[in-house]
Amino acid sequence: MCCAGICPLCKIPGGRKVADRIYDIGIVGGGPAGLTAALYARRAGRSVFLAEEALPGGQITASPAVENYPGVRSMDGIAYAACLREQVRALGVEPTAVRVERVCDEGKHKLLLSADGGQRCRALILATGSRYRRLSLPGEEELTGHGLSYCATCDGAFFRDRRVAVCGGGNSALTEALFLSDLCAEVFLIHRRDRFRGETYLLERLRARANVRILTDCRIVALDAARPLSGVTLEQGEDRTRSHLALDGLFIAIGRIPGTEAFRTLVQLDDGGYIAAGEDCRTSCAGVFAAGDCRSKPLRQLVTATGDGAVAATAACAYLDGVR
Ligand SMILES: Cc1cc2nc3c(=O)[nH]c(=O)nc-3n(C[C@H](O)[C@H](O)[C@H](O)COP(=O)(O)OP(=O)(O)OC[C@H]3O[C@@H](n4cnc5c(N)ncnc54)[C@H](O)[C@@H]3O)c2cc1C
Repeated sequence: MCCAGICPLCKIPGGRKVADRIYDIGIVGGGPAGLTAALYARRAGRSVFLAEEALPGGQITASPAVENYPGVRSMDGIAYAACLREQVRALGVEPTAVRVERVCDEGKHKLLLSADGGQRCRALILATGSRYRRLSLPGEEELTGHGLSYCATCDGAFFRDRRVAVCGGGNSALTEALFLSDLCAEVFLIHRRDRFRGETYLLERLRARANVRILTDCRIVALDAARPLSGVTLEQGEDRTRSHLALDGLFIAIGRIPGTEAFRTLVQLDDGGYIAAGEDCRTSCAGVFAAGDCRSKPLRQLVTATGDGAVAATAACAYLDGVR
């Protein structure tokens, strides 16, 4: 526990002010998890402060078609996020456009610090998501959702009977390749090293699939620029032989970066840097909850993020009522 403005740890640099109003529940992150938490908290009659550093909606706004959210046959991600935002706005929650840089646990209150100042709340929900690690190749952003994807569970079905590649060498890449090999005509697994970090049993299963080809010591050095993606340029072996691989889809599975760096002194993180919290969304810090892609979990999807938002808000309300 530390004390805003008094101890050196949470001294607020000149000009930043702490707001007088104290909210029941503070939420950091206005993606599907944070917005759903706001929905549940407001419907339970709590005052809500929602901090979002970018446009509310989160990662799903990058999806051209969401087809795996129960009850929604097909909707683009921007439209889905707009519906959720509107639902929350109708309950009186207007996201505040700030990046929360740190949180001080003052015991009874949690103090959210941003470049603009401080905001106190009685309970806090961290819903800061995660982002996919990128290859950082020209055209990658423009091609996302147009033949290039970071999630086979989300987009694999769009490539049924097509020719796709998965880039990566860990368990995520192997699992995505296996998943796609059940759907697609041909799957290339492209890995820059000659050994895989992923589990041997997954690799063996892949090797047994007739429609899977594994390319090791092989790098993707360029993406075909025109939308949708039509192929990639590869460099393979010590002599870096170049070749072109025609593809209908490319799945990049080289890891994720959780949005938790700012909170590592507040709550316990797991080995991957995600907030250590189970299905009840409770963290190691009393009164602080974690929802969505930023917490330890086996599946990072819309349905699990919104589920977490509901659980975390309900748990935060119980905490405020003194129910453990
Ligand atoms: C291209 C793409 C397509 C996808 N397609 C699908 C799909 O079809 N189906 C599906 O189920 N899932 C899909 N997903 C996954 C889905 O979008 C995520 O699982 C979901 O958005 C996670 O929600 P979240 O609220 O936990 O995190 P996010 O959506 O990542 O939202 C977190 C929010 O927190 C904000 N934030 C972070 N740090 C701070 C801070 N310090 N201060 C203030 N704000 C902060 C961020 O700006 C962001 O808006 C897709 C993802 C991508 C990238």
